[in-house]
Amino acid sequence: MRAVVKAAPGKGLELTEVPTPSVGARDVLIRVHNAGVCGTDLHIWEWDAWAAGRIRPPVVVGHEFAGAVVELGPEVAAEGIFAVGDLVTAEGHIVCGDCVPCRTGNGHLCVRTQIIGVDRDGAFADFIAMPASNVMKLNGIPTEVGAIMDPVGNGVHTALEGGDVTGATALVIGCGPIGCFATGVLRAAGAGLVLASDFNATRRVLATRMGAHRVLDPAHEDVVAIAHDLTEGLGVDLVCEMSGHPAGHATAFAAARPGGRVNMLGTPAETTEVDFARDVIFKGLTIYGVTGRRMYETWIQMRRLIGSGALDPMPVVTHRFPLERIAEAIGVIKDGTAGKVILEINT
Ligand SMILES: [Zn+2]
Ligand SMILES: [Zn+2]
Repeated sequence: MRAVVKAAPGKGLELTEVPTPSVGARDVLIRVHNAGVCGTDLHIWEWDAWAAGRIRPPVVVGHEFAGAVVELGPEVAAEGIFAVGDLVTAEGHIVCGDCVPCRTGNGHLCVRTQIIGVDRDGAFADFIAMPASNVMKLNGIPTEVGAIMDPVGNGVHTALEGGDVTGATALVIGCGPIGCFATGVLRAAGAGLVLASDFNATRRVLATRMGAHRVLDPAHEDVVAIAHDLTEGLGVDLVCEMSGHPAGHATAFAAARPGGRVNMLGTPAETTEVDFARDVIFKGLTIYGVTGRRMYETWIQMRRLIGSGALDPMPVVTHRFPLERIAEAIGVIKDGTAGKVILEINT
C-alpha cells in the first residue's frame, strides 16, 4: 500500500510502498479516506529536537483520520459491534488499560501511551490497523469531518473541562485550528461572550467564522483590558490558552476573573515565569492541563455536537491535498497561511 513514511532521521517525509498492516485479534483494519495534517506532522517533517528524541524511524506518520472498516480481527468480529463498511474514525492515543490513570478513568493520561504516526505506524496510508477499543463509528458524519475529530476533540476537551459554560464569558488565546474549534464549541455550548485572540490575520478570520463574538489582535489591542471592559471589570470566567507562548500565559492569568479557570493546551517550547501569588493563589484560579481527549466522554460529546449540527468544524478547513502532495500540505502549515489541512487519500 502507499504510505507517507519517516524513513530515517533527518528532514522530510517520503511517499513509498509498505506492506498492508496485519490485523490482530482485537484490531480493525480501516481503509483511510481522509486524514488531517497538523503541527505535530510539521515537527516530524522538520525533525526538531522533540521529533529526534521521540521518533524511531521507519514509521508511517499521520494520526488524524477517518475511513471505512474493511476487515475485523476474530475477537472483534465475534462481538458484532463493528461491521465491514462502517465509516469510522479513531482515538490515536493507544493506552495500556492497566496503569493507575487508565484504571481510574483517565486513559488520556496513560503512562504507556503510544501515539499512532509517532510511536507506531500511522494513518497517512491506504490502510491502518487500530485496536477496536479506539475506533469510533461516525454515525452519519462524513469522513472528511471524521478525519479532524482528533483536534476538534482537543477543542472540546479544552472548552468544556470545568463544566457548564452556558452564559459564561470566555477568551481563546491562539486561533490555530484547535483554538478555532474551541471557539465553535463554546458557542455551541451557549457561552455568552467568546473573545478570540491571535496575531495572525488569517486565523482571526477563521475564529470569526467559528462564531467568536469579537476577535482581537494582540499586536494592536490590549486583550486584558478589553476582556475586563466587556465583563464589568471582572475578567472572563474561562480562558482557553492555545498559544503556548509566555505572552499568552501572562494574558491568560491576567484576563481570567477571580475564581476563574485557565485550561491550557498550547505547549510552550520554553519555561514561563508566573507570579503565582498575584495571578493564581490570591485569585483562586483553577489551572487545568489539557492532554488529548477524555476517553471516551470527549468523543461521545463531540459526535453528538457535530452529528446534531450544533458544531460544524469545516469552516476551519482551508486546504485539501491528495496524499502525494504531502510536501505542499506541510508547507502551507509551516508558512502560517493554513487553517486545518486535509489529505484526500481514498475518496
Ligand atoms: Zn494532530
Ligand atoms: Zn495506562
